[in-house]
Amino acid sequence: MSGHQREHLPPDDDSRRQALLLIHERLIGEYGNPTPKSRMNPLDEVVFTILSQNTTDTNRDRAWAGMWREFDSWESVATAPVSRISEAIVAGGLHRTKARRIKDLLEQLREERGSYEMDYLRDMDMQTARQELGRFKGLGAKSINCVLLFSLGQPALPVDTHVHRILRRVGLVDTRDLSRANRDIQGDVPAEIAYPLHMNVIRHGREVCASRCAECWRCCIEDLCGFEEKRLESR
Ligand code: SF4
Repeated sequence: MSGHQREHLPPDDDSRRQALLLIHERLIGEYGNPTPKSRMNPLDEVVFTILSQNTTDTNRDRAWAGMWREFDSWESVATAPVSRISEAIVAGGLHRTKARRIKDLLEQLREERGSYEMDYLRDMDMQTARQELGRFKGLGAKSINCVLLFSLGQPALPVDTHVHRILRRVGLVDTRDLSRANRDIQGDVPAEIAYPLHMNVIRHGREVCASRCAECWRCCIEDLCGFEEKRLESR
Protein backbone atom coordinates (compact mmCIF):
# COMPACT_ATOMS: atom_id res chain seq x y z
CA MET A 1 0.00 0.00 0.00
CA SER A 2 1.36 3.34 -0.99
CA GLY A 3 2.13 5.77 1.82
CA HIS A 4 0.69 8.77 0.05
CA GLN A 5 -2.79 9.91 -0.77
CA ARG A 6 -3.72 9.32 -4.41
CA GLU A 7 -6.30 12.10 -4.28
CA HIS A 8 -3.45 14.52 -3.61
CA LEU A 9 -2.04 13.95 -7.10
CA PRO A 10 -2.57 17.08 -9.15
CA PRO A 11 -5.02 16.03 -11.85
CA ASP A 12 -3.50 17.52 -14.96
CA ASP A 13 -0.17 18.43 -16.52
CA ASP A 14 -0.60 22.11 -15.82
CA SER A 15 -1.26 21.60 -12.13
CA ARG A 16 1.74 19.27 -11.85
CA ARG A 17 3.94 21.87 -13.53
CA GLN A 18 2.67 24.50 -11.13
CA ALA A 19 3.29 22.19 -8.16
CA LEU A 20 6.86 21.53 -9.32
CA LEU A 21 7.47 25.27 -9.73
CA LEU A 22 6.21 25.91 -6.22
CA ILE A 23 8.38 23.16 -4.76
CA HIS A 24 11.33 24.53 -6.71
CA GLU A 25 10.79 28.04 -5.30
CA ARG A 26 10.55 26.76 -1.75
CA LEU A 27 13.70 24.67 -2.10
CA ILE A 28 15.56 27.62 -3.62
CA GLY A 29 14.57 29.60 -0.54
CA GLU A 30 15.94 26.83 1.66
CA TYR A 31 19.07 25.71 -0.17
CA GLY A 32 19.85 28.37 -2.76
CA ASN A 33 19.97 28.09 -6.53
CA PRO A 34 22.64 25.58 -7.61
CA THR A 35 24.11 26.14 -11.05
CA PRO A 36 25.77 23.51 -13.22
CA LYS A 37 29.49 22.95 -12.80
CA SER A 38 31.71 22.31 -15.80
CA ARG A 39 30.29 19.62 -18.01
CA MET A 40 31.91 16.38 -19.02
CA ASN A 41 31.88 15.51 -22.70
CA PRO A 42 29.03 13.12 -23.57
CA LEU A 43 31.07 9.88 -23.71
CA ASP A 44 32.78 10.60 -20.38
CA GLU A 45 29.38 11.35 -18.85
CA VAL A 46 27.85 8.15 -20.24
CA VAL A 47 30.61 5.99 -18.74
CA PHE A 48 30.58 8.01 -15.51
CA THR A 49 26.84 7.36 -15.33
CA ILE A 50 27.32 3.62 -15.86
CA LEU A 51 29.85 3.66 -13.01
CA SER A 52 27.27 5.50 -10.86
CA GLN A 53 24.67 2.76 -11.13
CA ASN A 54 23.79 1.13 -7.80
CA THR A 55 26.62 2.64 -5.83
CA THR A 56 27.56 5.71 -3.83
CA ASP A 57 29.14 8.84 -5.28
CA THR A 58 32.34 8.04 -3.40
CA ASN A 59 32.66 4.55 -4.85
CA ARG A 60 31.77 5.79 -8.33
CA ASP A 61 34.57 8.34 -8.05
CA ARG A 62 36.99 5.65 -6.90
CA ALA A 63 36.01 3.46 -9.86
CA TRP A 64 36.45 6.38 -12.28
CA ALA A 65 39.88 7.16 -10.81
CA GLY A 66 40.82 3.47 -10.92
CA MET A 67 39.93 3.29 -14.59
CA TRP A 68 42.14 6.26 -15.48
CA ARG A 69 45.03 4.90 -13.43
CA GLU A 70 44.93 1.76 -15.53
CA PHE A 71 44.14 3.25 -18.96
CA ASP A 72 45.11 6.39 -20.81
CA SER A 73 42.48 6.62 -23.56
CA TRP A 74 39.08 5.26 -24.55
CA GLU A 75 40.84 3.20 -27.17
CA SER A 76 42.96 1.51 -24.53
CA VAL A 77 39.81 0.72 -22.53
CA ALA A 78 38.00 -0.56 -25.62
CA THR A 79 40.79 -2.93 -26.63
CA ALA A 80 41.42 -4.32 -23.14
CA PRO A 81 39.87 -7.59 -21.94
CA VAL A 82 36.72 -7.15 -19.86
CA SER A 83 38.54 -8.70 -16.88
CA ARG A 84 41.12 -5.90 -16.89
CA ILE A 85 38.46 -3.18 -17.08
CA SER A 86 36.59 -4.96 -14.34
CA GLU A 87 39.63 -5.00 -12.05
CA ALA A 88 40.26 -1.31 -12.68
CA ILE A 89 36.73 -0.32 -11.64
CA VAL A 90 36.29 -2.84 -8.84
CA ALA A 91 35.73 -0.11 -6.22
CA GLY A 92 32.39 0.81 -7.79
CA GLY A 93 30.62 -2.52 -7.28
CA LEU A 94 28.88 -4.58 -9.98
CA HIS A 95 32.23 -4.21 -11.71
CA ARG A 96 31.93 -7.18 -14.07
CA THR A 97 28.56 -6.04 -15.41
CA LYS A 98 29.71 -2.44 -15.72
CA ALA A 99 32.95 -3.45 -17.42
CA ARG A 100 30.99 -5.45 -19.99
CA ARG A 101 28.64 -2.51 -20.57
CA ILE A 102 31.50 -0.07 -21.04
CA LYS A 103 33.32 -2.34 -23.46
CA ASP A 104 30.14 -3.06 -25.47
CA LEU A 105 29.36 0.64 -25.65
CA LEU A 106 32.83 1.51 -26.91
CA GLU A 107 32.75 -1.30 -29.47
CA GLN A 108 29.34 -0.17 -30.70
CA LEU A 109 30.66 3.37 -31.11
CA ARG A 110 33.68 2.20 -33.04
CA GLU A 111 31.59 0.01 -35.33
CA GLU A 112 28.90 2.58 -35.98
CA ARG A 113 30.83 5.86 -35.95
CA GLY A 114 34.47 4.90 -36.27
CA SER A 115 35.57 6.77 -33.17
CA TYR A 116 35.28 6.84 -29.40
CA GLU A 117 33.26 9.97 -28.84
CA MET A 118 29.62 10.96 -28.59
CA ASP A 119 29.83 14.66 -29.33
CA TYR A 120 27.33 14.18 -32.15
CA LEU A 121 24.65 14.09 -29.42
CA ARG A 122 25.17 17.81 -28.91
CA ASP A 123 23.57 18.52 -32.28
CA MET A 124 20.38 16.61 -31.45
CA ASP A 125 17.22 17.85 -29.80
CA MET A 126 16.38 16.24 -26.47
CA GLN A 127 13.95 13.68 -27.85
CA THR A 128 16.35 12.50 -30.56
CA ALA A 129 19.27 12.35 -28.12
CA ARG A 130 17.09 10.37 -25.71
CA GLN A 131 16.28 7.84 -28.41
CA GLU A 132 19.90 7.62 -29.51
CA LEU A 133 21.15 6.99 -25.97
CA GLY A 134 18.44 4.34 -25.57
CA ARG A 135 20.11 2.29 -28.29
CA PHE A 136 23.05 1.50 -26.00
CA LYS A 137 22.68 -1.47 -23.69
CA GLY A 138 22.88 -0.71 -20.00
CA LEU A 139 21.57 2.84 -20.23
CA GLY A 140 18.16 2.99 -18.58
CA ALA A 141 15.81 5.93 -18.31
CA LYS A 142 17.55 7.44 -15.26
CA SER A 143 21.04 7.15 -16.77
CA ILE A 144 19.83 8.74 -19.98
CA ASN A 145 18.29 11.64 -18.06
CA CYS A 146 21.62 12.14 -16.26
CA VAL A 147 23.53 12.38 -19.55
CA LEU A 148 20.92 14.73 -21.01
CA LEU A 149 21.01 17.04 -18.00
CA PHE A 150 24.63 16.97 -16.87
CA SER A 151 26.50 16.74 -20.16
CA LEU A 152 24.12 18.00 -22.83
CA GLY A 153 22.46 20.71 -20.74
CA GLN A 154 19.00 19.51 -21.72
CA PRO A 155 16.09 20.03 -19.32
CA ALA A 156 15.70 16.40 -18.22
CA LEU A 157 15.04 15.50 -14.59
CA PRO A 158 16.90 12.38 -13.45
CA VAL A 159 14.77 10.59 -10.87
CA ASP A 160 17.10 8.82 -8.45
CA THR A 161 15.93 7.18 -5.22
CA HIS A 162 15.77 10.50 -3.33
CA VAL A 163 13.86 12.29 -6.07
CA HIS A 164 11.57 9.30 -6.50
CA ARG A 165 10.79 9.08 -2.78
CA ILE A 166 9.95 12.76 -2.48
CA LEU A 167 7.88 12.91 -5.67
CA ARG A 168 5.88 9.93 -4.45
CA ARG A 169 5.40 11.32 -0.96
CA VAL A 170 4.40 14.73 -2.25
CA GLY A 171 2.05 13.03 -4.69
CA LEU A 172 3.48 13.94 -8.07
CA VAL A 173 4.40 10.42 -9.10
CA ASP A 174 2.35 7.34 -8.35
CA THR A 175 4.58 4.53 -9.51
CA ARG A 176 7.08 2.48 -7.52
CA ASP A 177 8.93 1.74 -10.75
CA LEU A 178 11.96 4.03 -11.01
CA SER A 179 12.24 3.70 -14.79
CA ARG A 180 8.60 4.59 -15.24
CA ALA A 181 8.93 7.54 -12.86
CA ASN A 182 11.87 8.73 -14.98
CA ARG A 183 9.63 8.69 -18.02
CA ASP A 184 6.35 9.90 -16.46
CA ILE A 185 7.59 13.13 -14.87
CA GLN A 186 9.55 14.52 -17.83
CA GLY A 187 6.68 16.30 -19.58
CA ASP A 188 5.79 18.15 -16.39
CA VAL A 189 9.17 19.72 -15.62
CA PRO A 190 9.57 23.34 -16.72
CA ALA A 191 12.84 23.47 -18.65
CA GLU A 192 14.48 26.23 -16.62
CA ILE A 193 14.16 24.42 -13.28
CA ALA A 194 15.37 20.92 -14.17
CA TYR A 195 18.92 21.29 -12.86
CA PRO A 196 18.27 23.19 -9.59
CA LEU A 197 15.19 21.09 -8.87
CA HIS A 198 17.15 17.87 -9.28
CA MET A 199 20.00 19.07 -7.04
CA ASN A 200 17.78 20.57 -4.37
CA VAL A 201 15.36 17.66 -4.18
CA ILE A 202 18.33 15.32 -3.63
CA ARG A 203 19.60 17.60 -0.90
CA HIS A 204 16.15 17.73 0.68
CA GLY A 205 16.02 13.94 0.55
CA ARG A 206 19.35 13.65 2.31
CA GLU A 207 18.79 16.34 4.92
CA VAL A 208 15.06 16.35 5.70
CA CYS A 209 12.97 13.77 3.85
CA ALA A 210 15.06 10.69 4.52
CA SER A 211 13.81 7.25 3.64
CA ARG A 212 13.25 6.00 7.19
CA CYS A 213 12.83 9.22 9.06
CA ALA A 214 11.13 12.13 7.34
CA GLU A 215 11.47 15.25 9.49
CA CYS A 216 8.22 16.78 8.34
CA TRP A 217 8.08 19.24 11.23
CA ARG A 218 10.89 21.23 9.64
CA CYS A 219 10.08 20.65 5.99
CA CYS A 220 9.65 23.72 3.79
CA ILE A 221 7.18 21.94 1.49
CA GLU A 222 5.12 20.26 4.19
CA ASP A 223 1.92 22.08 3.22
CA LEU A 224 2.34 20.89 -0.37
CA CYS A 225 2.90 17.26 0.56
CA GLY A 226 0.28 14.53 0.67
CA PHE A 227 2.30 11.91 2.57
CA GLU A 228 0.01 10.10 4.99
CA GLU A 229 2.70 9.25 7.54
CA LYS A 230 4.09 12.69 8.21
CA ARG A 231 6.01 13.19 11.43
CA LEU A 232 5.00 16.64 12.54
CA GLU A 233 6.64 16.56 15.96
CA SER A 234 10.34 16.15 16.62
CA ARG A 235 11.35 13.59 19.20
S1 SF4 B 1 9.70 15.69 4.91
FE1 SF4 B 1 7.59 15.04 5.22
S2 SF4 B 1 6.34 16.76 4.55
FE2 SF4 B 1 8.40 17.06 3.69
S3 SF4 B 1 8.33 16.15 1.67
FE3 SF4 B 1 9.08 14.59 3.07
S4 SF4 B 1 7.25 13.45 3.69
FE4 SF4 B 1 6.57 15.40 2.79
